[in-house]
Amino acid sequence: MPRWKHGCSVCRFIDTVKLNQTYDVYECERSAFGSLLIARYGDGPSEYTSVPRAILLARVDEILVRSDLYPYEQALIVGFLRKEHADAQPAH
Ligand SMILES: [Zn+2]
Repeated sequence: MPRWKHGCSVCRFIDTVKLNQTYDVYECERSAFGSLLIARYGDGPSEYTSVPRAILLARVDEILVRSDLYPYEQALIVGFLRKEHADAQPAH
């Protein structure tokens, strides 16, 4: 379940990731920029940040070995990889 309110009905909730704060990770596939990954960290209308999925995924290897990342970048990567892993499991 998402921790925060999110006003977009198109976004698909992926996971909640706890780092320095609690992030709800979403994927929004209908933005003008292609698929976006969104990290929400509060209920307010502007309390989220988003990164185009293609840009984030192109940097996964780099991001995973860096310690100076913004927490929202870590949250997006962790959430996204968890989802990919879950999707790869056989259905029961
Ligand atoms: Zn959305």
